[in-house]
Amino acid sequence: MEASLFIHEIFPSFQGEGILVGVPQVFVRLSGCNLRCSYCDTPESRERVEGCAVYGWEGERETLANPLGAAEVAGLVSSLWDAGMHSLSLTGGEPLLQAAGLEALLPAFKREGVPVYLETNGTLVDALDGVLPWLDHVAMDIKLPSSQGGEDLTERQRDFLARMPPGRVFLKMVIGVETGDGEAEVACRALGEPAIAETLVLQPATPREGSQAISSGRAHELYSIARRFFADVRVIPQAHRAWGVR
Ligand code: SF4
Repeated sequence: MEASLFIHEIFPSFQGEGILVGVPQVFVRLSGCNLRCSYCDTPESRERVEGCAVYGWEGERETLANPLGAAEVAGLVSSLWDAGMHSLSLTGGEPLLQAAGLEALLPAFKREGVPVYLETNGTLVDALDGVLPWLDHVAMDIKLPSSQGGEDLTERQRDFLARMPPGRVFLKMVIGVETGDGEAEVACRALGEPAIAETLVLQPATPREGSQAISSGRAHELYSIARRFFADVRVIPQAHRAWGVR
């Protein structure tokens, strides 16, 4: 039986986060997540949904019933791909929850020379191995205890990062008014030392209604902590949220 995937939406847009901000990609947002981050900006993608919405550049084209076969997903991505595209972006939710489906989907893109970019919360260590050969770029989020109801995921994230070949991954850490110096230092020390990821992006949490944005001075304090462990640290907010696009 063909492997299938639960997908929230498929759409073309510009990457709005991290070191590749601004490049055009075809996004596949997979449904389901194993975490409940306090700052989650896509809570609707944390659960599986009945319909996968497919968008073009000018809006919604159709809704398809989940789950979708790997070949069907590949066809949809191809229909949105053009010569100027940078890569296919796998986002969520947490894409690695559906590792078997990704292992069926991704080889075709490798054969066609389509680079694959994965956004992951870096906690599903065992799911990574089968998918890793097909990945060209990985954006791994550092999850601090203040965003996880106090749970410390550092050890799991260190195991995940240790499996990554150097040069393929950058790290991202969402920072907000609740981010503490101590937890930031512990995470940077644990995840900066292996020298697998040279770059850490500090991403100020996009303020929700009634919530406060982190100040530039506070971001600089956290930058100074991170800089002790990473050669390259940048502060980059979510460009697509500021623009108001998907
Ligand atoms: S890992 Fe991502 S999708 Fe899952 S809860 Fe956290 S921010 Fe939301």
